[in-house]
Amino acid sequence: MSLLRQHLIDPEICIRCNTCEETCPVDAITHDDNNYVVDVSKCDYCMDCISPCPTGSIDNWRMVTVGYSLEAQLAWTELPAEIDHGETASTESLQEEANEQDASEILKVAHSGESGKVLPPASAERPYINIYNRDKPLVARVAGNFRLTDTDSESDIRHIILDFGDRTFPVLEGQSIGIIPPGMDEKGRPNLVRLYSVASPRDGERPGANNLSLTVKRVVFEKDGKTVKGVGSNYVCDLKKGDEVLVTGPFGATFLMPNSPKANLVMICTGTGSAPFRAMTEYRRRHMPSAEGKLLLYFGARTPGELPYFGPLNKLSDQFIDKQLVFSRLPDVPKEYVQDRMVSQSEKLATLINSPDTYIYICGLKGMEKGVEEAFEAICLDHNLSWPETKLAMKQSGRYHVETY
Ligand SMILES: Cc1cc2nc3c(=O)[nH]c(=O)nc-3n(C[C@H](O)[C@H](O)[C@H](O)COP(=O)(O)OP(=O)(O)OC[C@H]3O[C@@H](n4cnc5c(N)ncnc54)[C@H](O)[C@@H]3O)c2cc1C
Ligand code: SF4
Ligand code: SF4
Repeated sequence: MSLLRQHLIDPEICIRCNTCEETCPVDAITHDDNNYVVDVSKCDYCMDCISPCPTGSIDNWRMVTVGYSLEAQLAWTELPAEIDHGETASTESLQEEANEQDASEILKVAHSGESGKVLPPASAERPYINIYNRDKPLVARVAGNFRLTDTDSESDIRHIILDFGDRTFPVLEGQSIGIIPPGMDEKGRPNLVRLYSVASPRDGERPGANNLSLTVKRVVFEKDGKTVKGVGSNYVCDLKKGDEVLVTGPFGATFLMPNSPKANLVMICTGTGSAPFRAMTEYRRRHMPSAEGKLLLYFGARTPGELPYFGPLNKLSDQFIDKQLVFSRLPDVPKEYVQDRMVSQSEKLATLINSPDTYIYICGLKGMEKGVEEAFEAICLDHNLSWPETKLAMKQSGRYHVETY
């Protein structure tokens, strides 16, 4: 049996930002109002589209005997399950099929079990996704824009409240929305959608109100000796009360909160990665303040003045949430990062990761996952556990979630 490794896009995670279609050198990617899809007869596995994709939805692969057609993919609401090719997918036969494809990658995909569908927590509410897209966005109105970080700090992080008036925009804790910055990019194309995590619970920033909040950091960087402002973040951070904003989404079908009150949530973040955890914590505080499941937050920042929601977080009782606020730039204090604090609390974390009721969430800047993973490795080593096995078991039961950007 001839096996083909087909490149697919996960419609549940894709934010329809068009980056991949613009990137693909052989025009293998196309879209309609519903989905972005890859033409199996054109894709030559060059991988150019993988790293620019902001959500990772493009990095999906299936071993198939007959490729899924464009028509089939355009109609999908979720990726099809992996097909078990049994004995025929042996190492040898796959290597023969590899041709110009990277054989080691094919074997990893075929045998690791890691490539399967990322699952949401079993008790999570079913999310709505992709109700609004770039061709049909929702017009929201800014109801507030407040600076969260100290005014003398270099880091400008803002709490933005968007109101949807009489339009429906249902979100769950852990989901993101897209914002379309007005204007064109440097190549004269309409600006791409930027993604922001929802920072308020499903019943709104204000309970019962048809609104939500975001936690947005103003991005500024150096290019060719000049200071350049990030397009989307500066647009959002400069919004004034009453301004209209084009919104797409909601997006995200896996990084979701379990509804079960027994669930322990281990939340690990830096900076704006705190947004989904504010949403989850606030949901618990409003609706199940005495839940049996524990809330444990590891939150890293340079200083308290740069840690979004520092004041409100400190008002939450230690019985309700175990807050581990970790600072790396305090005067006369050695630098400490979230992974250092985690290792120093090895006993507590080992007990939690051994429990089938524990869910781990990591959110923040790309790169933070490595240090956190190393901390989990060290903790497992100390307690006769295997981190790769533990992590795989957690992933397969929808209990390990990472969102870095
Ligand atoms: C799932 C998801 C959730 C997210 N949630 C949040 C959130 O809650 N809050 C939040 O603030 N952000 C969030 N983001 C990030 C957000 O979508 C944007 O990427 C971010 O705001 C920067 O966009 P921008 O338009 O301001 O910057 P852009 O103009 O798009 O620049 C993007 C980045 O690329 C770098 N860069 C671009 N061009 C150059 C260049 N020529 N030279 C050097 N560097 C360059 C810059 O360092 C900059 O950081 C999320 C992203 C994802 C994928
Ligand atoms: S892997 Fe290369 S050819 Fe295939 S869709 Fe991505 S950019 Fe196009
Ligand atoms: S999210 Fe990824 S797969 Fe979806 S359109 Fe954007 S780049 Fe393509």
